[in-house]
Amino acid sequence: MDTKDCIFCKIINNQTPSEIVYEDEKVIAFNDIYPKAPVHILVVPKKHIISLDHIELEDKDLVWNLISTAKKIAKDKNLSGYKLLINIGRKGGQIVDHLHIHLMGDPNR
Ligand code: 5GP
Ligand code: ZN
Repeated sequence: MDTKDCIFCKIINNQTPSEIVYEDEKVIAFNDIYPKAPVHILVVPKKHIISLDHIELEDKDLVWNLISTAKKIAKDKNLSGYKLLINIGRKGGQIVDHLHIHLMGDPNR
């Protein structure tokens, strides 16, 4: 698939609106459009990587960046406990073919 057809690349390139909660040079995070928890944020590398199955050794710092960003956002959102979920492949529940971590939690629990 061409990255110009990728919905998350469109969000990264400001061609599609989203509720961005965090952004730096390598990572963006925005609210999931169909939240399944009171806080449901997608933490996404700006580099178009199809899934966790497609990461290479050169992406190891990026994987750290994604996880540490999720941790930081969880703290900012007052989540003392939370879930991180990565769906991989259609049979793993992945719909958007651009690697992302679901960060889900409830600040009132
Ligand atoms: P997946 O099933 O691929 O792991 O999760 C994709 C997630 O992206 C879903 O939870 C879905 O609600 C979310 N999503 C799909 N399209 C958009 C969109 O255009 N904007 C936002 N913010 N989230 C989206
Ligand atoms: Zn993409």
